[in-house]
Amino acid sequence: MTSLTSIVNELDSLLGTQGFPDYKEALNGLQLETRDDITKVAAAVDLRERTINGAREHGANLLLVHHGLFWGGLQPLRGSRFRRLHALLASGIAVYSSHLPLDAHAEIGNNVLLARELGLTPSASFARFETIDIGVRGESSVATAELIARADAVARRWGGVARSSPAEPHRKTKRWAICTGGGASAETLHEAAEHEVDTLIVGEGPHWTAIEADELGIVVIYAGHYATETFGVRALADYVGRTFDLPTVFIDIPTGL
Ligand SMILES: [Zn+2]
Repeated sequence: MTSLTSIVNELDSLLGTQGFPDYKEALNGLQLETRDDITKVAAAVDLRERTINGAREHGANLLLVHHGLFWGGLQPLRGSRFRRLHALLASGIAVYSSHLPLDAHAEIGNNVLLARELGLTPSASFARFETIDIGVRGESSVATAELIARADAVARRWGGVARSSPAEPHRKTKRWAICTGGGASAETLHEAAEHEVDTLIVGEGPHWTAIEADELGIVVIYAGHYATETFGVRALADYVGRTFDLPTVFIDIPTGL
């Protein structure tokens, strides 16, 4: 049993939550408190009814998420939004959300952990957002087809499938960059080209990014928004479990994307 305040203080300091730039809907940090001490920690990528139900069924009363309660923006608490809040309050479940701080973290961040999972070693940061870099990049000599296969293995583990823009059969990836989640954008493609990156690994992106990338000589691997963001919250839950000697559980609700 641990007080919510001590966990929140630890997480805020670990993640540098205060002052970390982000989309305003991210509202990083404690989003919903509870009156009780914390007895079990659940982690999930998305705050949604099914993850709340999962946390309740596992007897967890702190839910760590990447996309929090306010992800959909300013909206009335009706329908599914009302049901989410009601279920959380009725079960006494607190919510702590971490978006870009958890993408960018050097040890438990989505980007660094996805790189490790793909057998890649980062040597620099990538994907600038305001004053910070949230992604990673580095060099390798791996066949691009092999990298696509590794990304596909990650995607399939979490209920998805990896896709990529076309790659020549004998192509090698010499310079790569990673930006998890909705990582393919005009900004990341521009930055990739600037650093002579030849393979960009993201969660997802619009159709035109594959065309733009192809014309820049870049192969984009879309490994799934959900799959690429399972790493950080799981690592965060492990960290809390180790630090405060609490049981943890990951609530896996794949979106297929
Ligand atoms: Zn995301």
